[in-house]
Amino acid sequence: MVTHMTSEVKFIVDEMLGNIARWLRILGFDTIYARDLRVSYNGKSFDTYLLRIAILEKRILITRDKEIVQRAKHYGVKVISILQNSKDIVTTLGDILIKSGVSHPPVNYGILRCPICNGILRPIAKENVKTLVPEKSWRFAEEFFKCSNCGKIYWKGSHWRKISKVIKSLSEILSKNSDHSIKDKQKN
Ligand SMILES: [Zn+2]
Repeated sequence: MVTHMTSEVKFIVDEMLGNIARWLRILGFDTIYARDLRVSYNGKSFDTYLLRIAILEKRILITRDKEIVQRAKHYGVKVISILQNSKDIVTTLGDILIKSGVSHPPVNYGILRCPICNGILRPIAKENVKTLVPEKSWRFAEEFFKCSNCGKIYWKGSHWRKISKVIKSLSEILSKNSDHSIKDKQKN
């Protein structure tokens, strides 16, 4: 299996799977969410448009739509299908990353993306955000980030605990998986 150390793995996520799109961005992956494209799209077949972007930008398509899975395979687009009754988000993300050949989420290398617009988050000094965030958050948080695209300010607040937990669980899933694939290789 080819493993990718950086964020060269890119995704395009079908509508209805907004939660997955947001999480992939939080984990640092360049992720297009189909619903954001729909707004400005006025062509005939939206599915064809998604497939074209996947091909041109070498993005892995994540979808729940069986029809588009078949078409993606036909065009040689790498596609990961999500079952209707998906398990918890960690298991789902773990499956996606393993199937994508990812060994570490890019967040391990300090890449964070805006869950709303996919822009890269850059650190911003605490003194520069005093008037931009709630006072309580400003007092308690130490690390702040600004989206290079939409300008939204983020900080490592209480929600970061949940994110850290997900990242930790995913790292465990991925390292277990790479142990297995090393053993499989030694067997062969
Ligand atoms: Zn943004």
